[in-house]
Amino acid sequence: MASKASRHYRSCPRVVKGVKRFTYDLIVVGAGSGGYAAARTARELGARVAVVDHGPLGGLCILRGCMPSKTLLASSDLAHDVREAGELGIRLGPPSFDVTHIKSRKNRIIGGFADDRAEQIRSFPLYEGLAQFQSPTELQVGDDVLLESHRFIIATGSVIAPPVVPGLPEAGYIDSDQALEIERVPRSLIVLGGGYVASELGQFFARLGAQTTFLIRGRQLLTGEDSDVGDALTGYFRAEGIPIETGAQLQRVTGEGDRKIVHYVQTGQSKEIAADEILYALGRIPNIAGLGLERAGVQAHPMTGIQVGIDLRTSNPNIFAVGDVTGRYPLVHVAIYQGEIAARNAVRTEYERADYRLTKARTIFTDPQVAIVGDTEKELERSGTPYRVASYPFNDHGKAISINKTKGFVKMMAAPADGRILGAAVLGPEGSDLIHEMIVAMHFNATVFDFVKIPHLHPTLAEIWTYPAEELAAIVSGAREPISAAG
Ligand SMILES: Cc1cc2nc3c(=O)[nH]c(=O)nc-3n(C[C@H](O)[C@H](O)[C@H](O)COP(=O)(O)OP(=O)(O)OC[C@H]3O[C@@H](n4cnc5c(N)ncnc54)[C@H](O)[C@@H]3O)c2cc1C
Repeated sequence: MASKASRHYRSCPRVVKGVKRFTYDLIVVGAGSGGYAAARTARELGARVAVVDHGPLGGLCILRGCMPSKTLLASSDLAHDVREAGELGIRLGPPSFDVTHIKSRKNRIIGGFADDRAEQIRSFPLYEGLAQFQSPTELQVGDDVLLESHRFIIATGSVIAPPVVPGLPEAGYIDSDQALEIERVPRSLIVLGGGYVASELGQFFARLGAQTTFLIRGRQLLTGEDSDVGDALTGYFRAEGIPIETGAQLQRVTGEGDRKIVHYVQTGQSKEIAADEILYALGRIPNIAGLGLERAGVQAHPMTGIQVGIDLRTSNPNIFAVGDVTGRYPLVHVAIYQGEIAARNAVRTEYERADYRLTKARTIFTDPQVAIVGDTEKELERSGTPYRVASYPFNDHGKAISINKTKGFVKMMAAPADGRILGAAVLGPEGSDLIHEMIVAMHFNATVFDFVKIPHLHPTLAEIWTYPAEELAAIVSGAREPISAAG
C-alpha cells in the first residue's frame, strides 16, 4: 500500500533506493483515542511528532464504538420510554421505527465527530498507510516511506475476535461493526455473549422489536462484575421479555434457508434455538498482526496484546504502547490517560506511573445503566481487603419514584478501620453520570464521614448516595451491626 504524507508539515526526506526517509523525535502508530492523546501531549511538550494511521481516520470510539452505539441507543431508550409513558398519564400507543432515519442520524452525527478528529490528526505530519517495524528505530509505512525515531508509541487498538463457534462463518452472522450499520431490524436475533457490547446492542435490537435471546456461558450478564449487579441486570432484561439462557456451551451453528440455528448444551442437555440473525459479540483482541513487533524487540501475545509496565514502556524501553493494544481496560478514557502518560515519559524520559485505582472506572449503557468505580466486592475479596458494604434501591428513592425510573440500586464499600471509600457501583437511571460523584469523592480519598457532610440537593437522583454513606458511617463508627462484610 502506498503511503500518503499529509501536505502540512512535510519535511524534506532523504531518498535512499527510492524509499523516502523522514526523522522525528517521536512517532505515534495509530491515531485513535490513545494515539491522538499521545501525539497532542508530546507536541505540547515541544517534540517533533509524526502520526501514522492506515485509516479511516477517527478511531474506534468515534467510528465503530462508543459514539455510534450511544447514538443508536438514544433511539431505542426513547422507544422504551414511549412504551412506559402510560404510567405518567401520556397515551402514545406502540412506537413504530424508521430504521433508515435512525441510521442516517447516527451517520450524520458520527460524520461530524470524525471530520473534526481527522482535522486534528492532520495538524500533525501524517503518514497514511500500514505501519510495520523494520528495526527498533525504523518504521516502514506503505511501500515507499521509512520513518526513523528513537521513540515510538504504539496505539493500534483492537479487532473483533475471530469467530470460534464451528459453522458460524458459513451460517452468517453480524458483529458489532455490522450491527451499527443495520438497514433493518431482524425479526429474531440470537446474541452470543454477555459482555458490555453484547448487552448494549442486544437491548437495542430487542427494544426496536427484534425477538432477542442471549446465550451466555456464565450465570449472569457482565460476568466479570459483582453478582448482585449482573444478576439484577439479567433479571431486568428477562422482565423486559429478553430471555437470557445461562450456562450455555455453544456447540455449532447451522443454517436452514434464511434461519440460523445455534446448537448448545445447557445443564447436560443438548438444545437448539433458531433466529433470523446472530449477533456475535464474544469480544475483541489486541491489534498487533503485521506490525513486525519482533523486529522492534517488543514482546506481545496475540490474545493479551503488548506487554507494558506501569510506565507504559514495552519490553523495548524506547517503545511505549497504550490503549486497547495493551489488552487491559479497553475503555476510551483509559486509552487517553495512558497516551498522555506515555507521551510525557517518552519526551521527558521520565518515569510517570499509570494508576488504575480510579481510571479503571467503567460504565455500561444498558437501561438501567451500570457504572463502577474503585474495587468491586469480588476484587476486595480476592485481595483479602476488609470492607463493609451498604446499598440502597432506587424503588425506595423519592426522585426515582417520581420520574418512574425505579430499577436498580447503588452500593458503596468502605474500609472498616477508617471509613475510607474503597469502591462504589450503580445500576440505575443515569448511572453513567451518577458515578462521577463517587469518582470525585474517591479522588480526594474521602471517607464516608466526609461524604455525609457534603450537601445534596433535593429531590435529585444523586442524593441516593447519601443513604449507603450514612449507613456505612454508622457501621464504621460502631453504632450498627454490618449488614454484610468481609474481613
Ligand atoms: C461497540 C463498541 C462500543 C464501545 N463503547 C464504549 C464506551 O461507551 N465507552 C468506552 O470507554 N469505550 C467503549 N468502547 C471501547 C473503545 O471504543 C476503545 O477502548 C477505544 O476506542 C480504544 O482506543 P485506541 O486508541 O486504543 O484504539 P483505536 O481507536 O482503535 O485506534 C487504533 C488506530 O490505529 C490504526 N491502526 C491499526 N493498525 C495499524 C497499522 N498497522 N498501521 C497504521 N495504523 C494502524 C487504526 O486505523 C486506528 O485509527 C466501545 C467499543 C465498541 C466496539
